[in-house]
Order: sequence, then C-alpha cells, then structure tokens
Amino acid sequence: MTAPPPEAVRERALSTPLPAYVYDLDGLRAHAASVRAATPVEIFYAAKANPDPRVLTALAPYVDGVEVSSGGELAHVRAALPGARLAFGGPGKTDEELASAAGTGVDRIHVESPRELERLAALRRETDVLLRVNLPVAISGAALRMSGPFGMDPEALGACLDILEQAPWLTLRGLHAHLASGLEAEPLLEVAAQVLGWARTWMDGPKEVNLGGGMAVDYRNPGARFDWAAYGAGLASLRRPEETLRIEPGRALTAYCGWYVTEVLDLKRSHGEWYAVLRGGTHHLRTPVTKGHDQPFAVLPTGKRPGASDAVTLVGQLCTPKDVFARQVPVDRIALGDVVAFALAGAYAWNISHHDFLMHPKPMFEYVGHE
Ligand SMILES: *Cc1c(COP(=O)(O)O)cnc(C)c1O
Repeated sequence: MTAPPPEAVRERALSTPLPAYVYDLDGLRAHAASVRAATPVEIFYAAKANPDPRVLTALAPYVDGVEVSSGGELAHVRAALPGARLAFGGPGKTDEELASAAGTGVDRIHVESPRELERLAALRRETDVLLRVNLPVAISGAALRMSGPFGMDPEALGACLDILEQAPWLTLRGLHAHLASGLEAEPLLEVAAQVLGWARTWMDGPKEVNLGGGMAVDYRNPGARFDWAAYGAGLASLRRPEETLRIEPGRALTAYCGWYVTEVLDLKRSHGEWYAVLRGGTHHLRTPVTKGHDQPFAVLPTGKRPGASDAVTLVGQLCTPKDVFARQVPVDRIALGDVVAFALAGAYAWNISHHDFLMHPKPMFEYVGHE
C-alpha cells in the first residue's frame, strides 16, 4: 500500500473511464525542478523510460537534452521537442539509424563498438562521438548490471582511436559509461569516481564523460527519493574544471509522475487467499513482472460493498498466473468496484508492456496539471 495519489490525480482517477494512465504533469515539473537544482552537471533524459510527448514537453525546461536509443526514438523526440539537444546511444545501430543521426544536428553519438565506429566513419559526416566503455568497476547493490554487449572493453578503445585517426570528420569528445541501474547516490558516486579515475588516465585534452543513468527508484518505499542533493554534491567535488560531466537518468525522473488506475471487477477467495481481479492487467503495466516486485498501490473506496480486510493478491484479466501486480499485500479494506491506483507507473510502464495480448481495450491517457 502507498499514500493516496495527489488530489488532482485522485479526482481524475474517479471520473475517467478505467483503466487509465494518469500523469501528474505538475508533480513531474516540481520533481524535475528539484533534480535540476541539485545537479551541477548536464542532464540528458533517457527517453526510453517514458517517451510520452506531454511528459517530454513538461520535462524539457529542466534538462539539457534527451538521450535516444533507436532511430524510432530519434524521430519521435525530434518531432516532440524540435531543437532539443540529442544524444544517440544504444546497441546494434543500423546503417540507416547512423545516417539518420550523423551530421544532422545530433549532439553526440555514443559508439558501441569498433565495427559501429567504422560504419559511422564511412558516412563521412561531421559528427561528435563518445566511446561507450564497459569498465570492470566494482558495483555493489545494483538492480541491473549492464554487462555483456553494452559498450566496449577498454582494450577495444585502441582500435577506435586508429579508426578516428583516419576519419577527421569525426570528433572524439570523450567517454560514455552507463554501467548499472538501481543504485543509490553513494554507490553511484563510487562508480562515477572509478569511471572518472579511469577516464583521466585514458584521455588528455578537453574531457567529456557521460556517466549514464541508473539512479534508484525504491518500489518498496514509494515515498522515498534518490538523494539528488548528495549525488549532486558528490559530482561537484569529483569534477575538475576542465571536464564536462553529463548524466542520463530515466526512471528516477519520470517514475513518480505516472499512475495506472483501474477498478476491482471481482473479489474471491481461492485456496485460502484473497484475490482482487482488476480491469486491465500487466499487459498495461508490466513493471511488477519484469522487476519482480509488488507494485505499490492505493485503494480508493467507492462505496459500501462487501469487501475483504486481509492480505490480497492483485491480478489482472490475462489468462496467465504471471498477471500479478502485487502479492498478499495487507489492505484496510478492498471491495468490488473500488478504484485501485498503482504508483510509480511513470517509467518503464506502459511503453514496455505487451498491450495486444488478449485484445482487451487499451487504457485511457489522462494528464493533470497545466500543459
Ligand atoms: C536505460 C539507459 C539509461 C537510463 O537508465 P535509468 O535506469 O532509467 O536511469 C541511461 N543510459 C543508457 C545508455 C541506458 O541504456
């Protein structure tokens, strides 16, 4: 259970057809403003967390640019935020994608391998690049370690320098390192210190380092926030005057502004446990399945109907035992027709979900706060 949504979200939740995503744009602005104020380095929002155009528009004044990870995201963000500074990263870029970015005003291309750099060089277009390096740093407590095909081992960077030497239309600006996600401020700063320490031995001249994203969102404690003040202060003390640092947060910027709201269609006891069957399902909000957590929620009672005051498992309408939002969560009371508002549904939620499975209707999309 979590605190009820802000009043404007609650009002909309109780008046819109359900299920619905309700985005709190004023809440997003207030949060982004506090992140901006605490962070003394460049911020590029990682669009893959939530590319909703109205979310992008609300965020834009508080970030320096947007990081995109595909040609699709590149075209989408260009249309939503004309003129925004863009960084293009991600594994497996095709020649078409590279051509849609190189020499077209994209601020940085994050290169993932020597082969990719060769293909970029073959386009012969003026382009600023960062080399994405997969450093073997010590990381404790990460939810997701970006090991495997992301970026290059340090040994591969030498091959890139050879390619760059033959391609003067490419400008090497520095390094990119997004090594983990789900870290709190202190371990993330430890990673940053290791990355910067390594980068300083590797580069000379003007230095630019993109430290990636991965700031934690605590789904067990939805009222908590990543400690941006400590992180910002730590970055300020790590940075040297001649260095440009940049971060690319996704989840920790937009998770809090989104609510997935639905209603109780059925309530039953099965083998001794209470189940609330909700309209919609994890094909709209896949986050609890992918992360293996209980999605925090608030029950908005709508009447005096028979209910349960016990631990309840919240499931959706899909014909699979995996369609579970939260397991055996104690509730004060939950009844047929009650509205259930899932918190922290603003990032890696709708846009990572398998919407068409079982052909139920799509949710509504509602925005509260000024546009
Ligand atoms: C996904 C991703 C991010 C954002 O990660 P969050 O955990 O959402 O902050 C940033 N940079 C890169 C390269 C990514 O792949």
